[in-house]
Amino acid sequence: MRPALLNPLFAPVTSLSGVGPKQDKLLRYLLDRSETPRLVDLLLHLPASVIDRRARPKIRDAVPGTVVTLEVTIDRHRPAPPRSSRAPYLVYASDDTGDVVLTFFRAQPGYVEKLLPVGAKRYVSGTLQMYDGIPQIVHPDRVVDEEGFAKLSGIDPVYPLTEGLAIGSLRRAIAQALQKLPALPEWISPEVLRRCSFPPIAEALQRVHVPAELTDILPDGLFWSRLAFDELLAGQLALALIRAQLRRPAGDRNAGDGHLRHRIIDALPYALTASQRDAMAAIAEDLRQPVRMLRLLQGDVGSGKTVVALLAAAAVAEVGKQAALMAPTEILARQHIKTIAPLAERAGLRVAILTGREKGKERRELLARLEAGEIDLLVGTHALIQDDVIFKSLALAIVDEQHRFGVRERLALTSKGEAVDVLVLSATPIPRTLVLTYFGDMDISELREKPAGRQPIDTRTVPASRISDVIDAVGRALKAGKLVYWICPLVEESEAEGTEHLTNATKRFESLQKRFGDRVGLVHGQMKGAEKDAVMAQFAAHEITLLVATTVVEVGVDVPAASIMVIENAERFGLAQLHQLRGRIGRGSEASTCLLLYQEPLGEIAKARLKVIRETTDGFRIAEEDLNLRGEGDVLGIRQSGLPGYRIARPEVHGQLIAQAREEALRTMKDNPKLKGERGEALRCLLYLFERDEAIPLIGAG
Ligand code: ADP
Ligand code: MG
Repeated sequence: MRPALLNPLFAPVTSLSGVGPKQDKLLRYLLDRSETPRLVDLLLHLPASVIDRRARPKIRDAVPGTVVTLEVTIDRHRPAPPRSSRAPYLVYASDDTGDVVLTFFRAQPGYVEKLLPVGAKRYVSGTLQMYDGIPQIVHPDRVVDEEGFAKLSGIDPVYPLTEGLAIGSLRRAIAQALQKLPALPEWISPEVLRRCSFPPIAEALQRVHVPAELTDILPDGLFWSRLAFDELLAGQLALALIRAQLRRPAGDRNAGDGHLRHRIIDALPYALTASQRDAMAAIAEDLRQPVRMLRLLQGDVGSGKTVVALLAAAAVAEVGKQAALMAPTEILARQHIKTIAPLAERAGLRVAILTGREKGKERRELLARLEAGEIDLLVGTHALIQDDVIFKSLALAIVDEQHRFGVRERLALTSKGEAVDVLVLSATPIPRTLVLTYFGDMDISELREKPAGRQPIDTRTVPASRISDVIDAVGRALKAGKLVYWICPLVEESEAEGTEHLTNATKRFESLQKRFGDRVGLVHGQMKGAEKDAVMAQFAAHEITLLVATTVVEVGVDVPAASIMVIENAERFGLAQLHQLRGRIGRGSEASTCLLLYQEPLGEIAKARLKVIRETTDGFRIAEEDLNLRGEGDVLGIRQSGLPGYRIARPEVHGQLIAQAREEALRTMKDNPKLKGERGEALRCLLYLFERDEAIPLIGAG
């Protein structure tokens, strides 16, 4: 249970005054939440820049183009002439050095009169401009009297916004949230506090939202860093707690004599690459060790992770135990079983698949066989973690594309057996620092070589204005018997607001079908699993030769004969996603081509992204570049999949802090693994604050 102390921070933003249903909707969008954001979400939304209002020159000395706060006397008003609503309402004001004009367009009647009474003294803040040689401020940001001036902030935070959300209303909401901040205990150790000179969290929040100096809002400044450290510590501690559970000494060990593995290897139509052999040896060694395995197998799309996973499963089957392979999508799960089943069969390994589609009698029988130990490897989706899925002796959990699953799912799967070994497969090569941040301390195997015989992919960028040339080229390719993917970003316009101009997959499908006839197919995320599979199967069988698809084909789909891919609105995709998508081609022995269609004009980042993807197919390099370009979210595909990521810490700024937070977490695990006492309570509070509390039930009450 979350400590009651934190409850005010988890109240909905709609409990604040001035935040109604409209703001709720805008804030959900801004803060990337499917439900009403809480005060804590507001407080962790940090400013991107500031407006400095501290310059208080005389009118004569004010620098045009800068933000100034002037102390003036109001001299006279010149309202807009009656029938000319476009002319502004002007207010003439002055100090002892000169005159300034305050300009208001479409002012409400009475508003300006009340705000700036003739003869009164006012403090007026805004950007000063010269107009016809006279200083002027159009729509001053602030107009206050003496009393208001005493309370006027010299520096205003500027937040990332979303269209329709006014900065003022966001500032007011955040100011209210700050008021509700409870007294929080200190969870950082005295040594780290001293070494890093961190202020208390309340002060850090206060100063980033109500900056006293321009530097207060810098990510590498003390205040932001303190918050980043908190966030990192919560993440690292959660991972350490989970790891401690996973690493409890395992009872029996799970490495067999190799007979099943040998049979599989003998049945392969190819030789394993050196890195596949190394990975397999490392896994076999882990399985032999008296602690649980926690290993990440990283390898680019097409590097051959599946067969390594199968061999790992065979190793535990050799000692009569079971393995599970969980994939993020139905398509992927089916793909795996398709690759695995024929090899497994020849080796005498019993495999089965369980997804949302297996139902009724079929499902009951499968579960009975699983519980009786008659299935060695169960492949599936989330369906694997349902309560009634019971293994006789699960010894190995293989999780594909891990970052799409939360820690909760991983725990749920491993809790289906005793001391389950864990192998995580990731097709997104992740830089080392990020592995630590997201997965904690894992052992890593990398599949860096591509299997032999792969052809390079020729990648080109083409402006959308040349789409008819592209369609002609696709026509020629189809005539030559090629299989072509055509990727569109969204299925329906309703999926996200304001994206009407994005190409609609359905519409594109219709227009391409008109041109090329009925061998054009469509697959998208809103289709049922069986429908999707049917279309994919037709594509693999060349019954469909041009497949229009949304990003459902992003992960792992394998039709080796496909050699051409067109990606529409390529500028909308992240690097990792483009890399994944492109990985669908270049898998066969044929040379492949990828055409990236982009909408002009291209922003700087989009331009840089497309350049990287054109220049290289090395996933490790792409991951590094991605990190440089956009920060961690995209590397992990978090923005696409909506998993809670890190909101404050940025690897490129806080790299040092990641290591320190990790040290602090490990020290805690050594000194106080059950999070007892005052410090323990404080750390629990931290975990709940950043919603990293998954592991708390594992350690019990404090
Ligand atoms: P991924 O790492 O993307 O999961 P897969 O395991 O799906 O890659 O492998 C991609 C393709 O490469 C499959 O068709 C598989 O049969 C093939 N493959 C795997 N290992 C080798 C190898 N050592 N030599 C040749 N082909 C291989
Ligand atoms: Mg795969």
